[in-house]
Amino acid sequence: MEEIKNYINGTLAAPVTDHYLDNIEPATGKVYSKLPDSGADDVAQAVAAARQATAAWAAMPAEARAAIMTKIAGLIDRDREALARAESIDNGKPIALARTVDIPRAAANFRFYAAAIINASTAAHVSPDKGVNYTVREPVGIAGCISPWNLPLYLFTWKIAPALAAGNCVVAKPSEITPMTAFLLSRLCIEAGLPPGVLNIVHGLGPKVGQAIVAHPDIPAISFTGGTATGRHIATVAAPMFKKLSLELGGKNPNIIFADSNFEEALATTLRSSFANQGQICLCGSRIYVQQAIYATFLAAFTDKVKAMQVGDPLAEATQTGAVVSEAHMQKVLSYIKLATAEGGKIEAGGHQVKVEGRCANGYFIQPTLITGLDETCRTNQEEIFGPVVTVQPFETEEEVIALANSTNYGLSATVWTENLQRGHRVAAALKAGIVWVNCWLVRDLRTPFGGMKQSGVGREGGEEALNFFTEAKNICIKV
Ligand code: NAD
Repeated sequence: MEEIKNYINGTLAAPVTDHYLDNIEPATGKVYSKLPDSGADDVAQAVAAARQATAAWAAMPAEARAAIMTKIAGLIDRDREALARAESIDNGKPIALARTVDIPRAAANFRFYAAAIINASTAAHVSPDKGVNYTVREPVGIAGCISPWNLPLYLFTWKIAPALAAGNCVVAKPSEITPMTAFLLSRLCIEAGLPPGVLNIVHGLGPKVGQAIVAHPDIPAISFTGGTATGRHIATVAAPMFKKLSLELGGKNPNIIFADSNFEEALATTLRSSFANQGQICLCGSRIYVQQAIYATFLAAFTDKVKAMQVGDPLAEATQTGAVVSEAHMQKVLSYIKLATAEGGKIEAGGHQVKVEGRCANGYFIQPTLITGLDETCRTNQEEIFGPVVTVQPFETEEEVIALANSTNYGLSATVWTENLQRGHRVAAALKAGIVWVNCWLVRDLRTPFGGMKQSGVGREGGEEALNFFTEAKNICIKV
């Protein structure tokens, strides 16, 4: 059985205690690899390696750093099929999704930030007869990057790439639930010639490894993506140490469909935005609001499509819905379906665990589930479920749906469907969400600031924002 290793100081290393955890394949329920059960001692080794490497990496010309990052991107492209398979096994997501979304995006993250650092500029301001102010940006030193299980390599590299490009060394922790692609990345970094200590990957549990990264006094910046409760805890550790903190947290995103929308496009995309990756994308729309005039027609067409979705082995090409990530997560999602019924909801489609035949007989599969009859105040519509479960509610007016959409503590993303251009702008402006899609979903330009409002997080990733986060701005003024 494969033993995942930490990546510290340029080599693959066993954890200090030599203790390993089980890595379970969600589609089969079977242990298929082991991962290091690392702790504070492993993090201390990673920080020591990073400290050694910092000066040379920061002093390396941006073009040279970019060349190594571009090489890593090329190796990810080369190994796309193997990485997609590994991610599908590790996470339970359909292999077609890993092949077309997760892995290409991981390569794009390295390539994008390699180009960005070469093109980065800083400002100069001239005060006539007084002085010239110019700004320089210095790397923070060592960055701590902690990521979740839902888009394992995609989100892991989304943090690591800008941190490295900006001249930092990194101590990173992938989710213990999906560690495999981060391990494969460490091999690619060695092959690409990334200098030892520049990137260190420590595997293990959040309260041990993650906590040690957040609390380490030599790591001045923490970039975290995960649940709101974990983010809140991390803030209590990092804030008194005055660390830079970027928190990308949970969501409960509204998907608003006006009667004047392009019905077929709204229908097809809503199927994706509800159930892609088993609904385990922080940007999935889980509260669907449909204007009364088309509510019955939309609900009937949507229910048919949801019932027809193919649930099955993530490694099968035709599968649309794979396994949810773990047994514990499956039980959590099923408990929310039970809660929805107790709150008076009507299950229009799905609602149950699915038994898949063959090698996946003991896997964690849930039918795509559609629930109606719940108002915005109930827990089902307020709490993040993070699974293949959506609610559908009718609305009458624009004002009403804006209030409904803004009625949770979250504010990550929102989707609006309308053919009325002015309404599209107006509603998008009124929604409390970090990203609003009008007549599309999950279209991402890596240059744009990305992040949530309210309890969906603080700080912004993407483009220049990430390079700024991983650097300190210094202003120098010269008298003229
Ligand atoms: P999680 O908060 O349980 O874990 C995320 C990471 O934090 C893991 O690596 C975990 O080991 C680590 N961790 C746990 N406890 C820690 C601690 N005390 N100190 C430091 N690190 C700790 O989240 P999850 O279940 O892996 O991911 C799902 C959540 O992530 C959902 O809420 C989802 O909405 C959110 N998410 C948000 C975004 C975004 O961009 N806003 C993107 C993807 C996922």
